[in-house]
Amino acid sequence: MTESSPETWSVRVTKDTLVFSAAHFITFNGNVCERIHGHNWRVEAEIEGPLDENHYVFDFIALRDGLQTLVQELDHRVLLPDRHPMIQVKVSEDAREVTTTFEDRRWVFPQEDCVILPIENTTAELISRWIGQTLILRLKLNEQHGLTRLRVSVEENFGQWANCWLPLAKAEIGKRKAEK
Ligand SMILES: [Zn+2]
Repeated sequence: MTESSPETWSVRVTKDTLVFSAAHFITFNGNVCERIHGHNWRVEAEIEGPLDENHYVFDFIALRDGLQTLVQELDHRVLLPDRHPMIQVKVSEDAREVTTTFEDRRWVFPQEDCVILPIENTTAELISRWIGQTLILRLKLNEQHGLTRLRVSVEENFGQWANCWLPLAKAEIGKRKAEK
């Protein structure tokens, strides 16, 4: 349980319910833009760190529920990127519609059908990072007993996973000290 202990630990949550069906389109190779299409995305998460006083790395149920809530927020939605250099996403003044444009193409959706994500492109990689960053905030993973790392994985198509590893408090504290 101490830092010099030879063991390392993690907890990982993967469930049949940790899936969401959502539409998206991405750009690649500069200005190639996909047609809108959907996936049944699957999500899993793993937290690394020392054991706490309960001999836990982190409570499985809290991790499962945090991820489940996030997944439900994305389910049956159109995922749109807010930081794409070429895809413009605008919410109408009455907040009822979202108009998205790319070059001469235009899509209009009911606002409640969309999730506008603060990312550059709705790739599985960037969705996994956003899910990870949101989990860190909601579950206060930086305020726990020295948890070191979170991994979030997103499967876009069967057997095609993107992984994002995010450092937790220990690494962040080290970074802040170095910046001083
Ligand atoms: Zn896709």
